[in-house]
Amino acid sequence: MAMFEKILIANRGEIALRVLRACRELGIKTVAVHSEPDAEAKYVKLADESVCIGPASSALSYLNIPALISAAEVTDAEAIHPGYGFLSENADFAERVEQSGFVFIGPRAETIRLMGDKVSAKDAMKAAGVPCVPGSEGALPDDPKEIVKIARAIGYPVIIKAAGGGGGRGMRVVHTEAALVNAVQMTKAEAQVAFGNPAVYMEKFLQNPRHIEIQVMADKHRNAVFLGERDCSMQRRHQKVIEEAPAPGIPRKLIDRIGDRCVAACKKIGYRGAGTFEFLYENGEFYFIEMNTRVQVEHPVTEMITGVDIVKTQIMVAAGEKLPFTQRQIELRGHAIECRVNAEDPYKFTPSPGRITMWHAPGGPGVRVDSHAYNNYFVPPNYDSMIGKIIVHGDTREQALARMRTALSETVIEGISTNVPLHQELMVDAKFIAGGTNIHYLEEWLSQHKR
Ligand code: ADP
Repeated sequence: MAMFEKILIANRGEIALRVLRACRELGIKTVAVHSEPDAEAKYVKLADESVCIGPASSALSYLNIPALISAAEVTDAEAIHPGYGFLSENADFAERVEQSGFVFIGPRAETIRLMGDKVSAKDAMKAAGVPCVPGSEGALPDDPKEIVKIARAIGYPVIIKAAGGGGGRGMRVVHTEAALVNAVQMTKAEAQVAFGNPAVYMEKFLQNPRHIEIQVMADKHRNAVFLGERDCSMQRRHQKVIEEAPAPGIPRKLIDRIGDRCVAACKKIGYRGAGTFEFLYENGEFYFIEMNTRVQVEHPVTEMITGVDIVKTQIMVAAGEKLPFTQRQIELRGHAIECRVNAEDPYKFTPSPGRITMWHAPGGPGVRVDSHAYNNYFVPPNYDSMIGKIIVHGDTREQALARMRTALSETVIEGISTNVPLHQELMVDAKFIAGGTNIHYLEEWLSQHKR
């Protein structure tokens, strides 16, 4: 199959720009789609063509499947890249794209469906020999007595999670039997509203785990490779704030072992494209929690230490090409750290959309900035608050940390509030510098640094 001539980018913000850059390198023409308030965005102007797909509301624009399909039709695009968020893990969208004669840059719709339901994903992973967090067999039954029994068998604390959950939502930790049944009912009701699926399941709530994830890449010819791991333990409200690769202090042997399991699972389920197996890591053991069937926000740290362009590779394998590397050719070099830059109050976390009156991005050796923002850019209030990512690479973690400190000190963003000051404090925090902090560390730190 020949490489695509034109790709429609069904997303916005920094990832739309990232996909556009990959297309440019591959000599592929691009179609940007945008809502009304995004009409002036940088990537919209850089794209070969652009189509307005609706008003500000995501439901009427970036989630509007008919509008996206017609945009691809009128522009003669051959393939659609969904980015992350929005429709990227929507199996119905993937199906509609393919049924309309376009290539969906991602796994098959049935794989997205399998992994999109966390209950069926866990079942599939167990069957493929990937270790999972101990928990309920499938979704929880309605009978309160049964629920109590299951929790007793697992042992408190437990976490109730929505089968259709995502983005750190639809989870509730339960410490005592007295609170259990009510918590299950509340999570179910919330899951129905938020995800249109009331099914919930139960897991042991691990007390002090780290969030470690494995990046995989697979083609249509049954080749699969893993590109090392990322440590995404620095989280607030189950949402990642800082990511790095490799994960400090975890023996390479353990990573390779779990990476091999992920590769085997990819082959077993016929996975193709980029994907991430997310694990909690505690006391030397990995426990699968979910798989993301798309490119992730934090993919650049892996690109920096492997030299693999994940987005380009996604496009190439979607066009039918073989993976351009084997497992043995993947070498990890140095250390990379990413800070997510959000338009928000750095300590209260209230969103801070508006006009950026001054934008100055950092530079220098080993510094990469992925952002669609610029001087005088207006951050619309309608979407996610992330306005970019600062990524650094160094020979060692120490060097990467030093480069991040320098990069953050060079960063100037005026007119709106951002979390850059928070990142600056974290980059000089002794425990973060030591490495290996767990998923609760950032919230503990924040509660001790209240202002
Ligand atoms: P989402 O799809 O919403 O991101 P995940 O299942 O990936 O949900 O979980 C997100 C985060 O929630 C994890 O990184 C971790 O911080 C926390 N978490 C999830 N499951 C557990 C568990 N069993 N024990 C402890 N923390 C958990």
